Amino acid sequence: MTTSEQDRWSRVKGRLRSTVGEDVYTSWFARMDLEGVQDESVRLSVPTRFLKSWIQAHYAERVLSCWQAEMPEVHRIDLTVRTAVRPVAPPKEAPAPVEVRRAPAPELRSTATAPVSASHDALGGSPLDPRLTFASFVVGRSNTLAHAAARQVAEGRRGDPVMFNPLYIHAGVGLGKTHLLQAVTWAGNSGNERKVLYLTAEKFMYGFVAALKTQTALAFKEALRGIDVLVIDDLQFLQGKSTQAEFCHTLNALIDAGRQVVIAADRPPSDLESLDDRVRSRLAGGLVVEMGSLGEELRLGILKSRVAAARAHHATFDVPEEVLTYLARAITHNGRDLEGAINRLLAHSKLNNQPVTLEMAEREVRDLIRPSEPKRIKIEDIQRVVARQYNVSRSDLLSSRRTANVVRPRQVAMYLAKTLTLRSLPEIGRRFGGRDHTTVLHAVRKIEALVNKDTALSEEVESLKRQLQE
Ligand code: ADP
Ligand code: MG
Repeated sequence: MTTSEQDRWSRVKGRLRSTVGEDVYTSWFARMDLEGVQDESVRLSVPTRFLKSWIQAHYAERVLSCWQAEMPEVHRIDLTVRTAVRPVAPPKEAPAPVEVRRAPAPELRSTATAPVSASHDALGGSPLDPRLTFASFVVGRSNTLAHAAARQVAEGRRGDPVMFNPLYIHAGVGLGKTHLLQAVTWAGNSGNERKVLYLTAEKFMYGFVAALKTQTALAFKEALRGIDVLVIDDLQFLQGKSTQAEFCHTLNALIDAGRQVVIAADRPPSDLESLDDRVRSRLAGGLVVEMGSLGEELRLGILKSRVAAARAHHATFDVPEEVLTYLARAITHNGRDLEGAINRLLAHSKLNNQPVTLEMAEREVRDLIRPSEPKRIKIEDIQRVVARQYNVSRSDLLSSRRTANVVRPRQVAMYLAKTLTLRSLPEIGRRFGGRDHTTVLHAVRKIEALVNKDTALSEEVESLKRQLQE
């Protein structure tokens, strides 16, 4: 890269900083690098996928116009993710081994659970389930990275540099978020060296609100700030302005003090609609990992681990291999149902004093077998698939360009976002380059009306839906 390019880049950054303000600039652009300039396009890179999609969704035009102010010939910004800088690659890009293995047993530290519970409870933590440890967590393709990151966090010692902060894990219901978070809490506390506090978002809210009422908010804050690792589960339930403000303070205070924060939610930070931008940016500044749905092998592994756990108390209980295979195949996605199935078989065989058979299993778990759940569709997927179909770029969809070849695909994409996801109109607007909700509504109505009379369009829309549901 030439020095003149570097100089330009510094000036562009200066412009950006003054248009978006210092706070926004540091949150989003501080880690953006210039990779090169070629003809009309500028290549920029950021360290995480989340930063990339956020900048594309919200600041694409601002970045472009800052460049154009320096170099009018620039017409395109290509934003990429700098892979080399990331400590660990996201799961989709790093095909993990398919084989399913048991998590290695935790180190033999003091594993007496009672004192851990007691000190944890004294801090006001949410109840912990003694079964949810690393030892009982089965590692497979969909959770390799989340598991590795969680172990890394759990093995840290007081004063160690923090590798990724916060560690943010997201996944659908029953895919092991709570299990992993509690495993971190058990493992961390069992060394008795660090204080690890596990809180559900509800508990955080309740704790805070209750503390305010009894005017011990200060004590609550102090307690929170005295811990080494804060683990918050189900962040999507965090609601209310004052709770959020407090959450934001706590998060900042802990991270700035070099304490570890671990968070789980059912969606990525970008989809936490009720949180404000600064919290979201802070959340995305660490490592964001998704756990995918449980594959069949992983389900089989979990079933086996459950049976082994049950056998510790019920030595005569056994589940034949063919029953396990059947269950792993029939029960999809949700870890809770796997656990429920084993519990039922256990109860049934105990109460009736009968061995477990395939017939028994089929009868007992019938209601746990559901048609496979519809896939969780993301706005990014919609934008990607629509962009591909209409041969435009995703940033075209997010841009303010009003040429027909972009306007129609954009409307279709917004329509699909409204009909295939649970996102609100304002949220969809935000994800389409910061548009107003009325614009989204207009697009939705427009396409709704058109698909009824325009068969070509209606076929296009159907084909897009199929591609998204695959
Ligand atoms: P979530 O919090 O994501 O909704 P949970 O952590 O409560 O899900 O998991 C639901 C059930 O599935 C629990 O009984 C959990 O122990 C089990 N489970 C999920 N993933 C795994 C795994 N990888 N290994 C062992 N058990 C698992
Ligand atoms: Mg949970």
